[in-house]
Parts: sequence; C-alpha cells; structure tokens
Amino acid sequence: MKKIQMVDLKGQYEEIKEQVNSSILEVIDSTAFINGPEVQQFQKEMEDYLDVKNVIPCANGTDALQIAMMGLGLKPGDEVITADFTFAATVEVIALLQLTPVLVDVEPDTFNIDPEAIKKAITSKTKAIVPVHLFGQTANMDAILEIAAEHNLYVIEDNAQAIGANYHFKDGKKAKAGVLGHVASTSFFPSKNLGCYGDGGAIFTNDDELAHSIRGIVNHGMYERYHHDVVGVNSRLDSIQAAVLRAKLPKLDSYNKARQEAAKKYSEAFKDQEYIVTPFTQSSADTHVYHQYTLKILNGKRDALVQHLNAKGIPCGVYYPIPLHSQNAYKDERYNESDFPVTNQLVKEVISLPMHTELDDEQINYITSEVIAFVNQ
Ligand SMILES: *Cc1c(COP(=O)(O)O)cnc(C)c1O
Repeated sequence: MKKIQMVDLKGQYEEIKEQVNSSILEVIDSTAFINGPEVQQFQKEMEDYLDVKNVIPCANGTDALQIAMMGLGLKPGDEVITADFTFAATVEVIALLQLTPVLVDVEPDTFNIDPEAIKKAITSKTKAIVPVHLFGQTANMDAILEIAAEHNLYVIEDNAQAIGANYHFKDGKKAKAGVLGHVASTSFFPSKNLGCYGDGGAIFTNDDELAHSIRGIVNHGMYERYHHDVVGVNSRLDSIQAAVLRAKLPKLDSYNKARQEAAKKYSEAFKDQEYIVTPFTQSSADTHVYHQYTLKILNGKRDALVQHLNAKGIPCGVYYPIPLHSQNAYKDERYNESDFPVTNQLVKEVISLPMHTELDDEQINYITSEVIAFVNQ
C-alpha cells in the first residue's frame, strides 16, 4: 500500500509536471515575476470558471478577507458576525481592522454558521456577515442572504475551503460558492482544493465599483501611479503561482470529483456505525467539495482514535480543537457558554481523515477498517 498522506500534493504534481515545469521556466525566462501575463490570464480564466465579473488576485486568503472588508469601507466599531467554528484567519482580520467580531454558533449537521444564531446576534452596529463554507460545503445562503437583505448587511463569503462547490438556491438557481454574496475571499494555500506552490489568494465580486476600489487597495491604495488615494496594502499573487494555478484550474472539477468519490466510499463504509456520524450532504452532491472529510465520534473516543490512527500510520486532524470564543485573543464578555452548545460539542467529537485527489481503495479500506475496529472496541 502507498504511504497514506493527509494531503498528497506529490501525486497530483506528477500528472501536471511537464506543464507546470515549463510554465514556471517561462516565467523565469520572461522575468515578469509580478503581475505578469500569467497573473492576468489566470484572473480571466478564474472569472470564466466562477462566472463572476471580477477576480482580484492577492497574496493569500487571509489578506483576501481583510481587503474585502477594507473595500466595503467597514469602520472600527462596526460589528461583523461570523462562525465560532472556523479557522482563526476569519476572525483575525475582523479584529485586526478594529471591527468588532461577533462569534455565533454553527449547525450540528453541516458545521456551518447557524442563521438563527445570526438573527439573535444582530444589533444596530452590525454591518456584515461572514459565512465560511466550512470543509467544502456551502453555508445556508438562502437564509443568510435573506437576513442580510432585511437588515441591510454585507455578506462576505470566506470561500477558502469550497472553491468549485455549487450552491442550489431554493428557487432552483445554481451558482458557484464565492459568487453568492457581495464579495468573497479564497485561498490558494497548497493544501486547499485549488492550491498553488506557495501562498496565494483572491477576492471575487460582481460589483464593479467595489472591484475597482479593491484593485487599488491591493496595490498601496494607488489608482494612478504614485497617487495614493486610500490606505492600502501590498498583496500580490506572483506569476509563478499564477502559472501553477493555470495548470490546475482546468482540473479543479475533476479534483473535486475525486474528493467526492473518496468521501462516498468513506461514508459507505461507515454508514451503519452507531458511534460514527458521517458528513451531512445536502440533496445535491455538488454542494460539498470535501476540503476535509470530517466525522463525529459520539462515544468519547475521539482523542484516543487520533492516537491510534497515528500509531497505525494514518494521518488525521482535529479541525478545530478549540472554539474561537475560548481563544485568548478573541474572548469577549458579551459571550455566554450557553450561546455555543454546538461548537462546544463539535470540538470534542470531530476528526478529519486523509482527503485528497490521490486516495485509492486499498488506503480507504485500511483507514475505514482501523477506525471502525477502534471505535467499537
Ligand atoms: C486557509 C483558510 C484561510 C486563510 O488562507 P491563507 O491563504 O492561509 O491566508 C481563511 N479562512 C479559512 C476558512 C481557511 O481555511
């Protein structure tokens, strides 16, 4: 059996090696390292793929979120509602801009932000909601957009984990994650579903005016050379990363399909297990692109299972072990533990199994049989 990896970037590289190597060499040869043609081409190809008017590449997914918030003109003291159960980057940029993060609980089945909890957290200072499409599954955007419209709030999607996922609106329309709200961010960190070979990120929006504002912000607040109209940042996707992304973007759907296939096999193996809850999937399978395949272990054996799998050569992860509202950096007296029953439970139960495009049946069988045997012993 091939050695099991949490993410197998090497196997994926082997298939696109020639193209990637030659385009990286071309970038070096051209010396157009920053904002070269590869970046501009990638931007266009990404716009086509997502069916969005504006893609603005930047340096990473954390910057992308921060810049989206800067572009919207959010001001210190504005409250921004986001999920208690997500990667810290989401809340970090809110705090960094001196906006007030308001963490709310998530749904027990999808792990995504709970619209009912959003409603309860809205005050006269609330300006935006940041749903995270966690682990690759779109949040309940029908409900979130409805709440946002009612209270005149921006919706900023953190789409670092769900690039390529579709969302099916109640009225039958379908659109890609990342073009559902006012603006969205994504990350091209190597292990994401569309990863480059370093750091990278992008902002998506259909709002041309906002896009214009953001294009200046990523470039030191310049709209005209050496005229600095707003305070900006330096956040760029470099041409070598764009070249890698251009090789991978045409394969993104097949990469996500491979993840969905692996997830299906895992879930099939775990389906009659009393103590194992498999990831919830909405009626349409294309709404989840399995950035992570995350189980809930109900009999208190999660931590012991992590130890066991590691000893058996099976990598796994606990995303996320501590709720954000309990982190020293983000504690706030406005929170009560009783506001977060779901997150407080999930941090004890979740475990993510190896998930990538190169998993084979032998590996999946080995992983699932080890998990089942241990949890039931
Ligand atoms: C990875 C990730 C980010 C940050 O992306 P970077 O490119 O690492 O800065 C933000 N939000 C979520 C939910 C992520 O998973």
